Amino acid sequence: MSKPNQSLQLNQSNLQDFLDCPRRFQLKVIEGLSLPAAYSEPIGKFEISTLLGNRFHLICQQFFSGIDPVLIENSLSDPDLQAMWDKFLPYGKSLLKYRFFPEPLLSISLLTHKLIAKYDLVVEINSEKYLIIDWKTASKKPSRSTLDKKLQTHLYPYIFSQTVNDLFPETPISPACIEMHYWYPLASEHKEIFPYSKDKNAEVKIDLEQIIGKINTYISEDVEFQLTDDNAVCQYCVFRSLCNRGTSAGSFEKSPSIEHEDLKNVQFDIDQVSEIEY
Ligand code: SF4
Repeated sequence: MSKPNQSLQLNQSNLQDFLDCPRRFQLKVIEGLSLPAAYSEPIGKFEISTLLGNRFHLICQQFFSGIDPVLIENSLSDPDLQAMWDKFLPYGKSLLKYRFFPEPLLSISLLTHKLIAKYDLVVEINSEKYLIIDWKTASKKPSRSTLDKKLQTHLYPYIFSQTVNDLFPETPISPACIEMHYWYPLASEHKEIFPYSKDKNAEVKIDLEQIIGKINTYISEDVEFQLTDDNAVCQYCVFRSLCNRGTSAGSFEKSPSIEHEDLKNVQFDIDQVSEIEY
């Protein structure tokens, strides 16, 4: 059961859950449930794809941590991972001349809760341009409007804008200097860029306060959070039996929006946050 004044760790994954279905957020984040239902069918395809995504993130992290690319390449036995690496390597090398931080974990407080983001890579191009780069391993890049609707697209620059001086303490950095980049190694067009701004920053703050305000209202009223009206969302939800929304999982191929990266790192150890030393 929820407790008034409960302080939550909120990240792009669980806040997106709240937007998709408040009840899912309640079951996962407030009640701490995880059911063994399949996320999508066939299970093997989903698991393989998720594993591949995780391995790609690992080799990117190794590359930007200074491990010899030849050693990384020699460790690759999966042809799909090799294909991602081949696309990634020239781009990765092009970033090495800049100052960068692989996988920083940044956090801020908002309305009694912690907002946390684990970034794949942040890069200082110069004192007026900072990139947040997020690796995405889906074979097809979603449309720009789909990506624009993702909470991550706005939450990541927002948290970064509040904490950027933890990483780059030399000068004040305005929101207009920040860009959110999604990078898809398997897509024909690899990159989708979302510039940020002072006005956008103010908008995102209001949106986040509204979302968190709604969460706090549910918690203080101690009621069941609303179930989504969209049954299609339930097809890709592990709680569908619990909610009487069907027993079989949706098709992996037909899934409109599964991004394997959205499912990883959903819970962080709070002790890791704000312990960032470079
Ligand atoms: S099954 Fe549907 S209603 Fe139930 S938590 Fe999942 S998305 Fe929400």
